[in-house]
Amino acid sequence: MSVRTRFAPSPTGRLHIGNARTALFNWLFARRRNGSFLVRIEDTDIERSTKEFEKAILEDLRWLGLDWDEGPDVGGGKAPYRQSERLSIYRSYAARLVDNGLAYNCYCTKERLEGLRKTQLAKGKPPRYDGRCRDLASSVPPAGIEPVIRFRVPEKEIRFIDGVHGELSFDTSAFGDFVIVGSDAIASYSFAVVVDDALMGITHVIRGDDHLSNTPRQILLFDALGLRAPSFSHIPLVLGANRLPLSKRERNASVSELRDGGFLPIAVTNAIARLGWSPEEGLLRLDELASGFALETLSNSPAVFDVERLKSFNREAIKIMDDDALFASLGMDERDVLFKEAVLEIRANASTLSELKGLIGSVTGAIVYNEDALAVLSEPYAKEVLRAFYSEAARFDLLDGLAYNKIIGEVKKRTNEKGPRLFLPIRYALTGRKEGVELVNILKLIGKIEALKRINRFI
Ligand code: GLU
Repeated sequence: MSVRTRFAPSPTGRLHIGNARTALFNWLFARRRNGSFLVRIEDTDIERSTKEFEKAILEDLRWLGLDWDEGPDVGGGKAPYRQSERLSIYRSYAARLVDNGLAYNCYCTKERLEGLRKTQLAKGKPPRYDGRCRDLASSVPPAGIEPVIRFRVPEKEIRFIDGVHGELSFDTSAFGDFVIVGSDAIASYSFAVVVDDALMGITHVIRGDDHLSNTPRQILLFDALGLRAPSFSHIPLVLGANRLPLSKRERNASVSELRDGGFLPIAVTNAIARLGWSPEEGLLRLDELASGFALETLSNSPAVFDVERLKSFNREAIKIMDDDALFASLGMDERDVLFKEAVLEIRANASTLSELKGLIGSVTGAIVYNEDALAVLSEPYAKEVLRAFYSEAARFDLLDGLAYNKIIGEVKKRTNEKGPRLFLPIRYALTGRKEGVELVNILKLIGKIEALKRINRFI
């Protein structure tokens, strides 16, 4: 049977790191096994779901380099791929369960359920439905109340083998009959997922550990509906640097934030692939990651999202990025050769595209001369150096690497200065800063006319 996996985001927020990793693992597994990867939008929470988030999630997935064989925007043989468009399917499956006596209408009011919960908690018992409407079938339903449909949970032990955790068992006596269709006629999460995974032919469910506790209920539903359950693998939670579950509010927790912060997709996929999995070292392409992917090699303990590691992948990615793509992403197509040359040299100093832009901007943008700079620049020796630099530089048409070496050699000879007394006045005059991009690259970035103008201010 050919493998079919799915990524099933709820469009209630941006794609965050944990979900991106779930999508990636499902994609890697399907691609490795020459199977199909689907995207299904779980938008039954009508109040919190938006089309904007759906669009943004799909965009973020594409930006990461993932593609899908079936989904809301590309269609497919099991359409529709939005749960909000499948509500009548869930209702017909729920009706089937009611007809078979495996589910029933429940007319209990919110007040009754709340009272029940409180009493149970007060007695130190876990809250669960007491089954009051279980055997109402023959009696007349109360008027004016829209019922929910509850699944009649059989008492039994459920065992299954999780691809990551191994054999697990759950006792259903802890569950209570749970709601599968609400009084608004909208299916519950677990019910919709079961119907969809079955009808869409999903063979492997790979998702976060936060869904582990839903799995036994879902297995019960598969059994009751006479549908084949997929195999389940639950991947460990992603923790932030503080060792707490990565929160959506944290910086760099969403894919869009990383993109806006100047991270490249290949760096992001490499960093998230290492959350609970240890592929080979180095920056790997998606197909390289896929070729080594196996569920058995996933870890079952929580993984820490390490921004420093992401930065080191990104540094690597910026280094090997195609030159023209790099220029385009910095918004600089129309620049002279020397400028581009400098950018290619200083890219090794930046761990994000934003940092690289910052480095370039620190040279080409407005200059601020602070007290320290002005103090150095007013010293007689500094003025000597700048005068010598000016007259030597004026002799060259282009301030390239060769010119730079000659100019510095001559300034050194003429002034007898070396080290910081030679370089600092020039650096301060050109940029106002003590450190930063190498002098030779500063000259390439600003060009001769601007360089001489900046020097001239201090002589
Ligand atoms: N829609 C669920 C979520 O975003 C995923 C459900 C699943 O993978 O079974 O957490």
